[in-house]
Amino acid sequence: MKSYRVAIRGGQVRALARGVLLRSCLGGPLGLTPGIVMADKPIILSGMQPTGGLHIGNYLGALKQWATLVREDQHDALFCIVDAHAITIPYEPEKMPGLVLDAATSYIAAGIDPDQCTIFLQSDVPEHMELAWYLSAVTALGDLHRMTQFKEKSDQHKENVNAGLFTYPVLQAADILIYKANLVPVGDDQKQHLELAREIARRFNTRFTNVFPEPQAKLSRTPRIMGLDGKSKMSKSKGNTIGLLDAPKTIEKRLKSAFTDEKKLRLGDPGRPEVCNVFTMHTALSPTDQIDTIRADCQSGALGCGDCKKALSTVMLAELEPIRARADELNGNPKRVLEVLKDGGARARKRAQATMADVHTAMGLTTDHRGYSSRS
Ligand code: ADP
Repeated sequence: MKSYRVAIRGGQVRALARGVLLRSCLGGPLGLTPGIVMADKPIILSGMQPTGGLHIGNYLGALKQWATLVREDQHDALFCIVDAHAITIPYEPEKMPGLVLDAATSYIAAGIDPDQCTIFLQSDVPEHMELAWYLSAVTALGDLHRMTQFKEKSDQHKENVNAGLFTYPVLQAADILIYKANLVPVGDDQKQHLELAREIARRFNTRFTNVFPEPQAKLSRTPRIMGLDGKSKMSKSKGNTIGLLDAPKTIEKRLKSAFTDEKKLRLGDPGRPEVCNVFTMHTALSPTDQIDTIRADCQSGALGCGDCKKALSTVMLAELEPIRARADELNGNPKRVLEVLKDGGARARKRAQATMADVHTAMGLTTDHRGYSSRS
């Protein structure tokens, strides 16, 4: 892979080779550090846990955006299935391989073309875990204590508040930094973890030498999908989801029960689309002119919640139909999915090992016997 050097001048990132201005590709400032060598396209890394059946929140918050980014072909993208994260909550080991296969199938079915990016399993690259340990030495305990996801998950799993749950954001930082990723397309709930990953990168670069760019979160248009109960974000563990691969009848039925604007009780009542989760899903799935009409008709009271949900059902089923068809096809050929993981794992590992050589050198954790060291 060709690479070139970038430098920061006057707050702008200038690519010194090929005259490419990365800032314009990314629509915002990059957290690059002078002296960092970048690949010729900005690097994207994201992942999901194989916790059983991705849902519409995962899709509209992250997966749909991943597929678009891969299709646009402006980035060097890696997507992992984070099985080493999933073991921090209670799980059944004998079910994990099937869940990993389901997650990989959903990635590909959702339109993430494995020929255009790298899809891999986190535990195939043990260097993630190695880097997490090194990064833990530059992570402040106080920062980890502030993580809201740890508080939520430890409340949810009181019987199993383990150290892995606490250091989860350090492993997540390692997942990202090991590929020197610039952008991390995630839902709103991951913003705090991303801020910490940036802080960890800064601390490492300051304590040792510049190895890592500071990654930025890239949110989708709908970064937070609420659950059907309207109480908290849509999440598998809350049982308030619509599954990405649910049968059309199930989707229709579950959408009918979706919580909307609590002040809109009957047809004619003016609604508040800005607080309604059904409207949020319309903004991700309906054509633009239809979104404007739905907003206006909800606000005037002309559109009732029942009809609004029916319209959402129609666009959602149309969006998910090809995904379900591709998943069915892949389920009939699991070997194809396993090959994607095998190939992706090998490619990811090679890249991770290259970064680890930089890390070992920066930290003085090697000597000449490896063929690289920090001794001059
Ligand atoms: P879950 O929260 O269901 O356990 P993960 O933690 O594996 O899912 O999240 C995978 C990705 O999906 C992350 O980028 C996360 O931000 C996004 N995501 C999860 N739930 C939602 C949601 N309700 N709305 C928007 N994005 C979400």
